[in-house]
Amino acid sequence: MHDAQWTVLDDYYSAALVKQDAALEAALADSAAAGLPAIQVPPNQGKFLNLLARIHGAKRILEIGTLGGYSAIWLARALPADGRLVTLEFEPKHVEIAAANLKRAGVADKVDILQGAAADSLQRLIAQGAAPFDFIFIDADKPNNPVYLELALQLSRPGTVIVGDNVARGGAVADATSADPAIQGIRRFIELMGANPRLSATVVQTVGAKGHDGFALAIVER
Ligand code: SAM
Repeated sequence: MHDAQWTVLDDYYSAALVKQDAALEAALADSAAAGLPAIQVPPNQGKFLNLLARIHGAKRILEIGTLGGYSAIWLARALPADGRLVTLEFEPKHVEIAAANLKRAGVADKVDILQGAAADSLQRLIAQGAAPFDFIFIDADKPNNPVYLELALQLSRPGTVIVGDNVARGGAVADATSADPAIQGIRRFIELMGANPRLSATVVQTVGAKGHDGFALAIVER
């Protein structure tokens, strides 16, 4: 099977199962119109995150990497009425577009967008004694994934689910000798997950309109 068929299948699954609504479509359109890169999760993976968070009964969700708020809408929609999503983003322009997209989707009152370098925002949350999160989605600058994992663990409790995006990158993550800092960041992230006795983890590889990639999925055991 080749990439064109992956896209056809993705479109088929999305139309039959995902049923993206007008707010999600508008979020994508406005993000593109504002010149944001189209590096958000695809619709079926946005729905996957939504389902995972709901299956887990998450009430407090942390997202690292907001972009235009596309995955944030999916995650915020998984929350109960008294739930909270905290999402971290470095680029002020992305924050502005995301805030508008979240407002139009009707979930802005459940979401805090923290602008700044994610590592700084995470340190601040830890210093403030933020309550642990139930579900953490790591999807920002990949060279910092090891830092994000370490800090995310300080904002976790036994049972917290941690998901890391883009851990296959078309297979490039298999190359231990890669000079790409993103590849090395992802490899270190995977290895830290495997070595940490507090975590039980795996990777689910994916194919679709955005090619071959994967999610790392972990639960905090203690
Ligand atoms: N989760 C989003 C979605 O699926 O809709 C996509 C996030 S995009 C892959 C990564 C985002 O991380 C970009 O908006 C980028 O500006 C942001 N980012 C990159 N480096 C960052 C940093 N050091 N701190 C916070 N955000 C950062």
